[in-house]
This record gives sequence, C-alpha cells and structure tokens, in this order.
Amino acid sequence: MNASTNFPIISLKGVNKTYRLGQVSVPALRNVSIDIHSGEFAAVIGASGSGKSTLLNIIGCIDTPDSGKVELAGVDVAKLNDNEKSDLRNQKISFIFQTFNLVPVLSVFENVELPLLINRKISRDERSARVRKAIADVGLEKYMGNRPDQLSGGQRQRAAIARALAGHPALVLADEPTANLDSENSHKIIDLMMELNSQRNVTFLFSTHDEKLMGRVGRIIHIKDGVINS
Ligand code: ADP
Ligand code: MG
Repeated sequence: MNASTNFPIISLKGVNKTYRLGQVSVPALRNVSIDIHSGEFAAVIGASGSGKSTLLNIIGCIDTPDSGKVELAGVDVAKLNDNEKSDLRNQKISFIFQTFNLVPVLSVFENVELPLLINRKISRDERSARVRKAIADVGLEKYMGNRPDQLSGGQRQRAAIARALAGHPALVLADEPTANLDSENSHKIIDLMMELNSQRNVTFLFSTHDEKLMGRVGRIIHIKDGVINS
C-alpha cells in the first residue's frame, strides 16, 4: 500500500456477503463497488444492521467476501497468502473500535506501544519515540501513565486513535468510533481524525449511524440494507 501508486487505496468491485444462520440467509452486502483514494477522509453512514461493520471488516481483511473483488493499493487481497495478509493487517491497516478495545491493566503508553512490539524492525528507541508522538498528537501527554479506567470515554478513544497511528498505517478503519460518546466528544473525535488525516496524509474510513456528525466530512457513503448509494 504505497501512496505513490496510481491505484485507489481501496477498490471493491461487485462485493457480496451473505451470512447464514441455520436456514436463514442474511445478506449483509449486495453488489458493493467503491473506490477510495489515498488521503481521503470518508464516512460510511447507515442504520444499525445496514452492513457497515461487514464492509469495514472485509476492507480490513478480517473477513472475506462471498464474491466480488477487493483490491488494496492495486493488490487483489484474495491472492495473498495468510502471511502476506497478516503483514498487511499488522503494518498497513489500523482499526479503531466503538468500544475502544484498550487493555484494562495497561497504561495509555503501554496500550499504544503494544501493537508495535510485534514489529521487530522497530528499535526500542524508535518505538518509544513513536508512542510519545502519537500520544502527544491526540493530546494525552498528561495521561500517559494512566490506565483506561482512569480516563473519560473521549480520552479512551483518543488513546485508541494514538494506538492506531503509532504503527504509521496507510489506512485507518474506524467502526463507529463515536457510538459510545456524547455529541460534544463525538465531534471532537471526528475533528481529531480529520486533523490527523490532513497532517499525516493517512486515509480514514469511518462508519457511523449518526447523520448529525456529517457536517464537514469530505466524502459520505450511504449504505442501506447492504447496498451503497453514494
Ligand atoms: P452494521 O455494522 O451496519 O450494524 P453489520 O455489518 O454488523 O451492520 O450487519 C449487517 C447484517 O448482517 C445484519 O443484518 C446483521 O444481523 C448480519 N450479520 C452481521 N454479522 C453476522 C454474523 N456473524 N452472523 C450472522 N449475521 C450477521
Ligand atoms: Mg456495526
């Protein structure tokens, strides 16, 4: 996923996904085609059950489509082996979740550091520098030593954003990152993500069911019953 290529960073063509629960089929995505370019800040908006998480999980290579094609920076992910896929997930794509998913017994510093420990190419000094920079970028310098239960919801999500950015991903996928926040903090988190998007040229794709958050977002993708109509 190199930003200098001419390929869209995300390209889906005719993607379908149906979940089967016993005898019942639940179509989650229907013939979804979409291109997102490097550096874009895009929001997927739809009601609960419309297919937002399925879409983000397929783009993030943690789920696979039944049919259709998914390309990341021009690479067909169906052709990657498991190692190549996990390298992509570990080094190029970061996730931010609705429930923050911080480790409760670790400090903010340790939570942000955790994913970097997997990457042996990063030295201890560089790791520490990256963690401090990411924490400073989200405005949590004073809380570096705090555990998640000593933070507000908005601060927890900031910590999760710092964790997502410390790995220097090309793409950040945020699945309803504001769903557990009040409206003031939701706006602040969107503003922060937009700022990081423009400063660092990281592509952001986030989902929400809240139309009110859409004021200044560059690109809005509406999804309803698994169908996209931009
Ligand atoms: P959203 O994130 O917009 O709420 P989802 O992508 O989670 O929507 O779900 C889309 C549809 O797929 C829903 O009808 C949901 O019930 C169904 N679904 C999602 N995940 C599963 C699963 N693991 N098994 C069965 N059905 C699922
Ligand atoms: Mg969801």
